[in-house]
Amino acid sequence: MPRIIKLTDRIQYLQVSYDPLSADVVAVRGDSAWWIFDVGACDEAVNFINALPRNPEGSSARFKKNIVISHFHRDHLLNLVRFVQGEVSLDFDSVYLGSYASKVVGEVADREKIAVTSPISFDDGVKVQILPMPNSHAKGSLALIVDDYVFLGDATYPMVGHGTPDVYNVQILEQQTKMLKSLTSTRFCLSHKRGLVRDRDSVIQFLESVYARRQKNENYIVA
Ligand SMILES: [Zn+2]
Repeated sequence: MPRIIKLTDRIQYLQVSYDPLSADVVAVRGDSAWWIFDVGACDEAVNFINALPRNPEGSSARFKKNIVISHFHRDHLLNLVRFVQGEVSLDFDSVYLGSYASKVVGEVADREKIAVTSPISFDDGVKVQILPMPNSHAKGSLALIVDDYVFLGDATYPMVGHGTPDVYNVQILEQQTKMLKSLTSTRFCLSHKRGLVRDRDSVIQFLESVYARRQKNENYIVA
């Protein structure tokens, strides 16, 4: 059974699990909404999201539930697809997706669906930002920033080769490192890691060490 880990008074997450592979699901309590990063692929993730209270203790507001999907891979968004196909009930109001994930999911009946192509931000007791993240792993990825925490999903990982080597794209890696360095938040959270939270500088240093291995006239770097 995946465990629920508390990061701060406002941020908790359901840990990654493996049968089926299901990415970490993050829930942030704002002042008027839950901000949910990824929906996973397992029933426990559905239950985790559905159990987030609409009327949390100490609040008189009815909370909205806003989902942000990091990227189109199944372990991150399958439960949204299951919802669209009528296989599970998922309690939410809005879903923010990158343009590619938006195509993969298709129409989402009776819920607000927002395709994110440029950064958007909300002040909800915490500062919430949703922004497209250049990355080699999956087209159209989004990051969620909440105060000092940056949730990156799989965006720091290479493109998975499936039989050929996993690779980073040189130009995209350069753009990505530049963007990550421009962020002032210090805690970078990567899916599928025991512990989720990493130090900003160690993540940037790792990507720079990959970039340093680029070869002249090669577009890709083997991970
Ligand atoms: Zn992925």
